[in-house]
Amino acid sequence: MNGNVEEAIGALRALLGDRLSTSDSVRNLHGHDESAFPDAPPDAVAFPRSTEEVAAIVRTCTEHGVPVIAFGTGSSVEGQTLAVEGGVALDTSLMDAILRVSIEDLDVTVQPGVTRTVLEKRVGGEGAFFSVDPGADASLGGMAATGASGTNTVRYGTMRENVLALEVVLADGRVIRTGTRARKSSAGYDLTHLFIGSEGTLGIITELTLRLRPIPEAISAAVCSFPTVQDAVGTAISIVQSGVPIARCELLDATMMRAVNAHDGLGHPESPTLFLEFHGSAAGVEEDARYVEELARAHSGDDFTWATRQEDRSRLWRARHNAYFAGIGLRPGCRAISTDVCVPVSELAAAIDATIADVADLPFPAPLLGHVADGNFHVMLLIDPDDPEDRRVAEAVYDRMVDRAIAAGGTCTGEHGVGLGKRRALGAQSGEAVEVMRALKLALDPTDRLNPGKVLPAAQHSST
Ligand SMILES: Cc1cc2nc3c(=O)[nH]c(=O)nc-3n(C[C@H](O)[C@H](O)[C@H](O)COP(=O)(O)OP(=O)(O)OC[C@H]3O[C@@H](n4cnc5c(N)ncnc54)[C@H](O)[C@@H]3O)c2cc1C
Repeated sequence: MNGNVEEAIGALRALLGDRLSTSDSVRNLHGHDESAFPDAPPDAVAFPRSTEEVAAIVRTCTEHGVPVIAFGTGSSVEGQTLAVEGGVALDTSLMDAILRVSIEDLDVTVQPGVTRTVLEKRVGGEGAFFSVDPGADASLGGMAATGASGTNTVRYGTMRENVLALEVVLADGRVIRTGTRARKSSAGYDLTHLFIGSEGTLGIITELTLRLRPIPEAISAAVCSFPTVQDAVGTAISIVQSGVPIARCELLDATMMRAVNAHDGLGHPESPTLFLEFHGSAAGVEEDARYVEELARAHSGDDFTWATRQEDRSRLWRARHNAYFAGIGLRPGCRAISTDVCVPVSELAAAIDATIADVADLPFPAPLLGHVADGNFHVMLLIDPDDPEDRRVAEAVYDRMVDRAIAAGGTCTGEHGVGLGKRRALGAQSGEAVEVMRALKLALDPTDRLNPGKVLPAAQHSST
């Protein structure tokens, strides 16, 4: 630990008392994530309770030249929270207040450490819900910072469509507000969306105003299996192109279905399967389900089963909910490289076909799942973390997936963000626009103390 870090920690201890920890266990928890990157613990972890404390922490760290890494729940999968240059992890878990709920305007203001399930419980009783649902119980600050999305995105959008306003602490300790509670605005540059997806590199989000949605009058869920992934994807594309207002449309391939059957003791056919959900009026969801059943049959879909009662819907969807951990269960002791690409929906079948061909002969399992109505899919590359050859092969597969997605007019990441893992890909996707991103970073964080080493590729002639 260098002298600057020691001085900063001393100043932070005076500010926060025992809410500043340097214990190995707390540091290690904050230097480890769901990615396959090596652990990188911070020198200390700060637990602020207020915007004023966040501003003081950031000011102290930047004055001493010490990195500050915002930390929500640490569920990100591209190495975003790893303290690759040491420094202070700023854990927002004590900033967990729901500050204001308006059912009349369908919006809510929260501190960044509120998790999505806590918000769901609070507003659910009042007939509303927050629509963005990544698989983990992530913090809303972390979800905004990664531009997260989930199974409902095809109907309700990502974090980008559901954040109305933010309060942000900048690198010099200034506190700014971006956006308003109004549903539209033409007022100047859109700073709210600048911070969404910035992964803690431009500022620390200390308050969020979010859109809520009314709980639909009726919900129906359906499950349908197909002989091939192409049939399932063809159905998803037909659903999108027909304009059916589908709320969820998730694909699990045969390997993933085998994994969920084994993990949860289920008896689904072990073939590619679509999990579907419809929201609307009672008559509307029935009509939508019947129409989609016809589309599925036209693509050789079998066993189309649908349900409207809550317990039956939950039973149908159970396999999808546990897919990530079921996938990991296919290879005990493995780490998952959780790939993530997104293409225009018309390019989806070709992108998935090429990926399936690419992973067919891998020496480790590679189950596939996707939010296919968004054109977004993931292959979990289940590598032995101690085998460099596994890692090399997996990274080469991932690079090819990314290159194909970019060539098809898509993106290197639909929802997981850039972190450490996608910096090269961001450069390949964005070209000269990366230099504009670099200029923005320099303007807002001139000494590069906010989550350094993340998002932007190293300048010039680097392969990172
Ligand atoms: C099982 C599983 C399933 C998943 N499924 C999905 C999915 O379907 N869709 C999806 O989008 N993601 C998914 N993820 C990834 C992950 O849940 C998301 O990236 C999530 O948004 C991260 O939130 P977090 O609170 O854990 O953030 P963290 O991991 O703690 O932080 C993520 C990044 O945000 C920054 N950050 C955190 N809080 C703030 C703040 N207040 N201000 C500024 N920056 C901040 C951090 O510095 C870091 O760069 C999944 C992960 C797992 C483990």
